[in-house]
Amino acid sequence: MLSGAPYQGAVEVRRSARRKRTVSAYRDGDRTVVLLPGRMTQTEEKRWVGVMLERLAAQERRRRPSDEDLAVRARELSARYLDGRAEPASVRWVANQNTRWGSCTPVDGTIRLSTRLRGMPTYVVDYVLLHELAHLLVPGHGPRFWTLLAPYPRTERARGYLEGVAAASGLAMSDEADTDPAGAEPPRTGAEPPAPTRGRAPSADTRGARKGTAAADGTRAGTTRDRAARKPRG
Ligand SMILES: [Zn+2]
Repeated sequence: MLSGAPYQGAVEVRRSARRKRTVSAYRDGDRTVVLLPGRMTQTEEKRWVGVMLERLAAQERRRRPSDEDLAVRARELSARYLDGRAEPASVRWVANQNTRWGSCTPVDGTIRLSTRLRGMPTYVVDYVLLHELAHLLVPGHGPRFWTLLAPYPRTERARGYLEGVAAASGLAMSDEADTDPAGAEPPRTGAEPPAPTRGRAPSADTRGARKGTAAADGTRAGTTRDRAARKPRG
């Protein structure tokens, strides 16, 4: 059964005769699957679907670090893997990056991560953050750059994960042009209204075709399954 839930995308309820007591739910792409015992009444079903949707949402909120959390995490990663030498001036989430998971501007020390990373496993977000931190020390993707990342044990796994997500969602993501020249970052303070032409680095047009429009709302990034389970109490 598929039913629309205004804030969650489609919800699919699956009943199992073998399932006696447990209720569980997980995300499958952009929909949510709720597993229920076969004998549950319609009223109980409605109640438990609501409970599980809220539970998943709460779980995901906990897994979505704020800009402040990112800055703290950046310091930890820099200390652990880069001897603390990478010191970003700011780290923040941005929603307008459709071809890059992360980007940085070494001249002013700013780092930006795509909100598409939110909800992904911590080791993946850490990898992208560490990658951008390393660019504050070494531009480009030559041997010196990858030597910097070598101590991070999940580099290959994280890159594979991101490639899989990009392929599954039809996104043309690349980490080849993730370093912006000075001036690419719009000023964060100041009262002047945004100029209509701001925001894109001159290098932005060299990144190849952008196919991300179908997933522009960012809801399709989740290929992991977020499971939550609990027993009904009555
Ligand atoms: Zn890079």
